Amino acid sequence: MHGFTGNPGVACGCGGCDDQGRRRFLCSALGGVAVVAAGAAILSAGPASAQSTLAPDDALKAMMDGNRRFIDGRLQSLNEDLSILKAKTAEKQEPFAAVLSCADSRVPVEFVFDQSIGQLFVVRVAGNIATPEIIASLEYGVAVLGARLLMVLGHSNCGAVKATIDGKAVPGQIGALYAPIWPAVNAAGNDLGAAIDANARMQATLISRSSTVIAGAAKEGKLKVVAARYDIASGVVSLLG
Ligand SMILES: [Zn+2]
Repeated sequence: MHGFTGNPGVACGCGGCDDQGRRRFLCSALGGVAVVAAGAAILSAGPASAQSTLAPDDALKAMMDGNRRFIDGRLQSLNEDLSILKAKTAEKQEPFAAVLSCADSRVPVEFVFDQSIGQLFVVRVAGNIATPEIIASLEYGVAVLGARLLMVLGHSNCGAVKATIDGKAVPGQIGALYAPIWPAVNAAGNDLGAAIDANARMQATLISRSSTVIAGAAKEGKLKVVAARYDIASGVVSLLG
């Protein structure tokens, strides 16, 4: 069982309602009014269902509530029926949030926010840098899929940021990561933690300023863009002001 309950008689033809008319999962935009009404129930019931009609602040709350469960070792997403989730999302996805994170193996984004199939649109690249292909992917998540939150997630002990600070020769094309991270190192100096935070903030700003799609969605109140840091030792995600 996943997500929506408690809206008897509400049917939108989305295929996400059971035969009693209760909304169980994923609804099309045509059912948006009923979905908004169910929003509070989603948030209070546990992990947010994939749902692009959440208000941006509610999407952020769902993420931070999920992180709290992760920190406390009370993951709910693992209890969900994955076969139902897969079936419901086979033809369509409506992730409520997009995340740009580092490729680091210690940053399992869905776990960190206690979310499951179809809920997060995750783009990962070493150093969580906003290159054109990355921005294009995030634009898809926002403009086409309807994500209401865009989070750039840096993390403690990021090897990509540390390597940029060190500036040593590296094999192959690894050095291509340096240039996008260098402005943060230049601003924050050799302090790794400060450079990691500066990098997350700067990549979020770069995305907001360089993408008319994302800037437009934010201006219309459909999207919130935030930078955050994940502490790999404690599991805590902190928003960066
Ligand atoms: Zn990293």
